Amino acid sequence: MADCDRLATCLFFNDRLENMPAVAALLRTQYCHGDFRACARFRVAAKLGSTNVPETLFPQDSTTADHIVAGT
Ligand code: SF4
Repeated sequence: MADCDRLATCLFFNDRLENMPAVAALLRTQYCHGDFRACARFRVAAKLGSTNVPETLFPQDSTTADHIVAGT
């Protein structure tokens, strides 16, 4: 698995979950350094551009990503 190419700019990777380091580490391992194409943030950014990724969108929130991408 390769690293996500959005590591340098992604708000989640850099700023989120500072008070939950164990959860952050788990998500980063699973998505940012793993299956990044399944990440909700990656999917929205790839489809609509990074400016359309909500700050609060978590990598595992695929349902919300589906709605954003579909415009529903
Ligand atoms: S949260 Fe998603 S978009 Fe951001 S760096 Fe990790 S895998 Fe990439």
